[in-house]
Amino acid sequence: MRLVAFALLWVPLLSAQQPESKPPERRIEQPAEQPGAPKDQKLVERDRKLQKVVDELVPLVEKYAELEFPSPPKVRAATHKQWRELVAKELKPDSTGKLVATSMMMLGLYVPDPDPAGTGEIVLSPMVIAPLLKELGEDAPRHHRLAQTHQKATLAHELAHALQDVHFALPKKMKRLLAAGDDDWLRYKYVLEGHAVFVEERVAEGGLGLEDFMQTGPYVGNFDPSYANGWRFCRRVFEQGGMQALEAALKDPPPLREILEVGAEARDDRADDQGDAKRGG
Ligand SMILES: [Zn+2]
Repeated sequence: MRLVAFALLWVPLLSAQQPESKPPERRIEQPAEQPGAPKDQKLVERDRKLQKVVDELVPLVEKYAELEFPSPPKVRAATHKQWRELVAKELKPDSTGKLVATSMMMLGLYVPDPDPAGTGEIVLSPMVIAPLLKELGEDAPRHHRLAQTHQKATLAHELAHALQDVHFALPKKMKRLLAAGDDDWLRYKYVLEGHAVFVEERVAEGGLGLEDFMQTGPYVGNFDPSYANGWRFCRRVFEQGGMQALEAALKDPPPLREILEVGAEARDDRADDQGDAKRGG
């Protein structure tokens, strides 16, 4: 499924990811649930199991990001209805078809805590949850598309966003610029997504046994340039200056032009980097 389905699923998102639009991740608030309503016990149990998966991934993400969590982020599963409501509220797709396509293409969201010292929350889409549930011994819906190990890589990506938040306030800075209509938000987006993909790839290949992740994983067919080019930029900075240099870029991303130049240089130097249709997530 992966390649074809992802290629199709990513395309509708492109229009939502142009510079003037909002990015699909972060800035998503809690879904509209009835406050105080008793939560279905089955869903509580599901979240508890997902939390266990996240907690087991945390040491791997900390190892490959070379950063630590003050406390592990919370994870929550969204139902299809909740997920569509989140996407409709935050991305405001202009048609039902676009809403469905966009919501299917988004795998997870990191929601920063309004408290600057707090760790936010990871919300997972039903597409991610289904394969994980299968591994956890529950019946997975038939429509699930992605392998379990790739879902864990997606979780690692969202965990990297959580680390960016607690250490560098990167998602919050980007959100503020975006809300202010400042084009400068793009350099934050490239570094934010690039670093999340950089960590995701390291966890996937070093900790989850996935080979050639960028050529086989969820970024194949993702044409949002911030993922692939941001990843190349982060990889180059790390190769040349180590994690210290990469952290400096996370604290204060360079101008977008420089990110693109460094990324292009990195691509030209790697025979296995075949272009932009590589990674995404
Ligand atoms: Zn991301």
